[in-house]
Amino acid sequence: MKVFIGVGSNLDNRKENIQKAIEYLKSDPHVVVQQLSTFIETDSEGGPPQPKYLNGVIQIETGLSPRELLSVLQSIECRLGRVRAVRNGPRTIDLDILLYGNIVVEEPGLQIPHPRMWKRTFVMKPLLEIAPYAEMEIKPLLKKINSQ
Ligand code: AMP
Repeated sequence: MKVFIGVGSNLDNRKENIQKAIEYLKSDPHVVVQQLSTFIETDSEGGPPQPKYLNGVIQIETGLSPRELLSVLQSIECRLGRVRAVRNGPRTIDLDILLYGNIVVEEPGLQIPHPRMWKRTFVMKPLLEIAPYAEMEIKPLLKKINSQ
């Protein structure tokens, strides 16, 4: 399954955090990293005042289910020392499943497509850079979500 993962970091050495997250992903036997977007510096949105983010998108191919992938991403966040202290607060690394093929997941604790991605330039800009067709794929998924 082709999956797009949103990545953000605004604490410590942001580039290094992102590189490590990519290395951890590459070391998972069920994940093939296929494409990386340019990583862009963005102002934080929401939450307390905090440093600027470095944001980008990773395209992977994986046999993991959405839940399995979420737990892989969460364990990478833990290994990189992420502490969930404040909602929308600063973080060493944030990994979100944006798109999982054209599958819609609406479960407690897991929503795919990621519910707030469309409004976020820091997600859509890097996503459309590596997958210009994604906008067309997203629209029918959005309709499905809205009609559920
Ligand atoms: P955040 O603080 O942005 O990392 O949000 C983490 C929480 O969002 C986790 O507890 C996940 O269960 C939940 N979540 C819901 N949908 C997604 C998704 N598509 N990708 C990653 N986390 C998600």
